[in-house]
Amino acid sequence: MSELKEVFAAYKKLSFTDRIVFYTTLSNTVNVHEDNLQDFLIETRIADGNTCIYCEGSHVVKNGKRKDGIQRFLCRDCKKSFIPSSCSVTSGTRKNLSVWAQYLKCMSDKKTLKETAEECSISVTTAFYWRHKILDALQEVTDRVCLDGTVEADETFFNVSYKGNHKNSRQFIMPRKAHKRGNDIHSKGLSSEKVCVPCSVDVEGIAFAKPVKLGKVSTECLIDVFSGIVSPSAVLCTDNEKAYRLLARNKAIRLIQTDTNKRITIVNGTTYGIQRINSYHSSLKSFIDRFHGVSTKHLEHYIIWNNLITNTKRSKTENISLMFVQIMSRRLTVHNNDISARPPLSFVT
Ligand SMILES: [Zn+2]
Repeated sequence: MSELKEVFAAYKKLSFTDRIVFYTTLSNTVNVHEDNLQDFLIETRIADGNTCIYCEGSHVVKNGKRKDGIQRFLCRDCKKSFIPSSCSVTSGTRKNLSVWAQYLKCMSDKKTLKETAEECSISVTTAFYWRHKILDALQEVTDRVCLDGTVEADETFFNVSYKGNHKNSRQFIMPRKAHKRGNDIHSKGLSSEKVCVPCSVDVEGIAFAKPVKLGKVSTECLIDVFSGIVSPSAVLCTDNEKAYRLLARNKAIRLIQTDTNKRITIVNGTTYGIQRINSYHSSLKSFIDRFHGVSTKHLEHYIIWNNLITNTKRSKTENISLMFVQIMSRRLTVHNNDISARPPLSFVT
């Protein structure tokens, strides 16, 4: 028993990333037994059963078990009763954590809502809300990304889609006639019906992208997106767009611009290009296409999802573990109504 306590004490000293590696090594999150997941949560969220999820007080006692065998706790400080998964995105869903783990595996496999719903034995509507609750909790992971070394950047565009805003909404007024599939926008060029998404990718394939505005890219939006993401020590490679020159000057980042027709530029014997960012655009587009017209209000979520599962630094199992640890460690309660009520173009200020 004392050895076990030593292991737990050592575990608590681990960094966030090391905890993921530890957990991955210990048990493959996918198909892991429910009891193991509950024990894992008690360790990580209630710190060996002592800390209150609500007030972080340390006067916590066990308070019997629920009918389904899940341990209940009571905090003597704030008098609240809770279970290991309280106050997380899984709260109130009445589904075992093993179903959530299975759901994350489906996300890692880029499964559609219908496929996921079937595999996890939940409704398509539930699958939809879970997807967005999970992606809310995962936003933080992508916000921590820092790209260094040679970083290629370029913007891409998606057609605006108001999908998910029409029905049952008292506030939303469709700003134009509905398109059938979002692909029949006739006007060419960068109209107000295109969402601008600046993207960047480093040599290891770690990517960051974010929808920022309608129409053409601007220096302001580039500064907004890439500040804190692209390291000041990076070498930024872009096409000849002026906005990147202003960004590089503003952030004091070394910039190498390549003529789109020439495709590469050689500086001091080193070859720079924008092929990596172009191939990132294609893979992101094909990921989004899988879902047959993603609503613009959820576009950022899908980009987060794509970037997370295509991160080449982590194995598939590590990715699923990372997602699991992240969604369970966040104190985040998102209601279905919050997701439906998001504004159609939330990034437009
Ligand atoms: Zn408490």
